[in-house]
Amino acid sequence: MMAYDLDLGYHISMRQTSLFTRTRHEAPKDEVSKNARLLIRAGYIHKEMAGVYSYLPLGLRVLNKIVEIIREEINAIGGQEIQLTAFQDKKIWETTGRWSDEVVDNWFKTKLKNGTELGLGFTHEEPLTVLMKDHIRSFRDLPTSAYQFQTKFRNEARAKSGILRGREFLMKDLYSFSRDDKEHLEFYDKAKQAYRRIFDRLGIGGETYVTFASGGSFSKYSHEFQTVTDAGGDIIFVHEAKKIAVNKEVLNDEVLKDLGIQRSDLVKKKAVEVGNIFSLGARFSDAFGLTYADEKGAMKPVVMGSYGIGPGRVMGTIAEIYGDEKGLIWPDTVAPFAIHFIGLFDPIGNVKKSADGLYEQLTERGIEVLYDDREISAGEKFSDADLIGIPKRVVLSEKTLAEDCLEIKDRLTGKVEMRKISEILI
Ligand code: ATP
Ligand code: MG
Repeated sequence: MMAYDLDLGYHISMRQTSLFTRTRHEAPKDEVSKNARLLIRAGYIHKEMAGVYSYLPLGLRVLNKIVEIIREEINAIGGQEIQLTAFQDKKIWETTGRWSDEVVDNWFKTKLKNGTELGLGFTHEEPLTVLMKDHIRSFRDLPTSAYQFQTKFRNEARAKSGILRGREFLMKDLYSFSRDDKEHLEFYDKAKQAYRRIFDRLGIGGETYVTFASGGSFSKYSHEFQTVTDAGGDIIFVHEAKKIAVNKEVLNDEVLKDLGIQRSDLVKKKAVEVGNIFSLGARFSDAFGLTYADEKGAMKPVVMGSYGIGPGRVMGTIAEIYGDEKGLIWPDTVAPFAIHFIGLFDPIGNVKKSADGLYEQLTERGIEVLYDDREISAGEKFSDADLIGIPKRVVLSEKTLAEDCLEIKDRLTGKVEMRKISEILI
């Protein structure tokens, strides 16, 4: 039985006997990345082909929690959620010169029956700028911003980093529309702060640095959010005291001067870009004629920004940073369940009976529980719990039941404590 929560829209708790996924001892031989190896072994994802992964129940729960944290913070800065189509109109992209495979090397393209070419979106500046022409007329319509969680398609040349670099992946992409540079920078700064809160809540704030990177032709720098991990393909130079970094791409005397820092204070690290924020100026509004009438009736180009985060990449990054030789370890905020409740059943059935009741009571209290009610050995249950990586492992056995206790083990610290059942059910 599963407890379905109508408000949350998902099952709060679940019995492991009804979870269809299995854990496995070995990851596929061709899978070299730590994140995908662990996630596949623990039954979170399934590898379809290189760079292409499906999400299974546990994996989707984690992904959805990451999405929900991002959604809350983007809503809090006024982002309005939309859903654009993945199909891309060639004519629109020719306007900015980005249809060409020489300019954009990772397009997936396809054709309608009548031969019309279509692209599968790898980002959405072009169609959203065109769409906004129907809605933005005057200064009164600005500033505004829109975002989506959407599947992007990129024909990435290398796909050896598991879900850090998928050929099909989820992206949160936010776009801002402002009257002028000043108004744009106000939103840009709010977005930067929202990103800090997002990565803190996702449990990777400590390892994530606002990183100065190349800004394209519209601003001197863009800001990447780079998380330090050996699995990352980027090289950044970290200034620990200021909690900022500089991408190798732009490390020179000028950037050091701009940031008021010294080369000798920087430490070279490998990192993965979990998010970025980018000023676009009038590049897209000029190309498509997205203008507004100011207070005096003069037509001006809308100033834009774009802001990306890859929820799947974040999930992979968490797996890389926290995972150990036994398996995954999730921060509380994104864990698929809060508690992995393990019943070590006795032949008479006393423990089973109590465990069943306790499972129901925990669930009624809104605690998300994965209940291992399988008839297998304690050793197998424990090694599965380590692999799956739910933050708290809670064991009921003949021994603990005799003392009206539960044994609680913290997956991250390994700390074990005995607690009275009555205390836990408060
Ligand atoms: P990278 O340089 O690592 O390829 P990017 O500069 O192409 O990243 P953007 O185009 O700005 O990234 O995409 C926005 C966000 O989407 C990134 O910050 C990252 O979190 C995520 N992302 C980008 N490419 C992928 C991918 N192939 N798989 C998963 N997530 C991705
Ligand atoms: Mg890329």
